[in-house]
Amino acid sequence: MSARPTWVEISLARLAANCRAVKQLIGTDTQLMAVVKADAYGHGAPRCAQVLAAAGADWFGVALIEEALELRADGITQPIFCLGGAWPEQAETVIRHQLTPALFTIESAAALNHAAQQSHQTLAVHLKVDTGMGRYGVPLADLPAFLDAFSPFEHLRIDGLMTHLANADDADHAHTNQQIAAYQTAWQMMRARGYQPTWQHLANSAAAHGHATARGNLVRVGALLYGLTGDVLQRGLPDVNVQPVLSLHSRIAFLKTVPAGVTIGYGATFTTTRTSRIATIPIGYADGYRRDLSNRGVVLIRGARAPIVGRVSMDLTMVDATDIPAAAFGDEVVLLGEQGAATMRAEELAALLDTVSYEVVTGISARVPHLYRS
Ligand SMILES: *Cc1c(COP(=O)(O)O)cnc(C)c1O
Repeated sequence: MSARPTWVEISLARLAANCRAVKQLIGTDTQLMAVVKADAYGHGAPRCAQVLAAAGADWFGVALIEEALELRADGITQPIFCLGGAWPEQAETVIRHQLTPALFTIESAAALNHAAQQSHQTLAVHLKVDTGMGRYGVPLADLPAFLDAFSPFEHLRIDGLMTHLANADDADHAHTNQQIAAYQTAWQMMRARGYQPTWQHLANSAAAHGHATARGNLVRVGALLYGLTGDVLQRGLPDVNVQPVLSLHSRIAFLKTVPAGVTIGYGATFTTTRTSRIATIPIGYADGYRRDLSNRGVVLIRGARAPIVGRVSMDLTMVDATDIPAAAFGDEVVLLGEQGAATMRAEELAALLDTVSYEVVTGISARVPHLYRS
């Protein structure tokens, strides 16, 4: 059976090229942790991780232990770092699958230490300090007490010190520089207590690009690998040579000519002002094509832009194809990506939606099948 023609295309060639571009940016003294959380930002973690591994990713980063297990099941043997740490109940799983968790609670440390002891191992963890992001991480002021509480855990080894930067894409570097300085204070505090972590990591995509001093010896890069840049990187700096990996496609499923004065879609929020050719596209908000794009979004047909008219509904979206006279039943519609000279980037849709490109690509729902192109 042939499926509804609405699909995501993933260019594995671009993903590999982006990975090589990021490696070039960070140089040979810094390792690359390819962040593949949230199903590789909606791109499909299993296939993307294979390609990124072949293109030189040294580590993989995930948010959840569950995501790490998927990678192990897919045969990923590289170190897997769990950005969100481990719940105490997940300690045995962490040991069994040789995962490396971020650590920022004594509760998790106790559980991980116990699980490591049970299996006669020492588990490497990376201590996360909060230097100004305000979410996970031991606050700098609490670090001495945390290390005191940590010292009995003989089956854990702090092999990395990490922090996360809140606005590394900002042209004003004041907050980032403060965070970097706080990180360095934490590092010295650790060293003074005799810890010698191997890994120093602070940088996401924006910091890896715009703050060379924050690279440490490991960077955690997601967005850049997928070719997201416009609302990710600090503006005004030299570009990184990456291209969008994901595109979103459908076809014209229905096309009709209507007179002026006809309303389109739920709520009758759009009324034609001329004789119009209205195309119906089989994609809607249940596919992650957000309802906020109603009367606002733009799609590409025959290399030209066509505006969305009326409300995006659950499964269908209407566009005004009047100015594309050649548009015909079955024509391919590009909702994200390139068609001829026309482009619709995730960054542009994000701006229309008052959000970030990350949310656009991770929001595409599981109902939309993925087609991988090498
Ligand atoms: C998601 C995430 C990253 C990757 O950020 P990008 O902007 O996609 O490069 C890095 N570090 C942490 C802690 C994250 O949660």
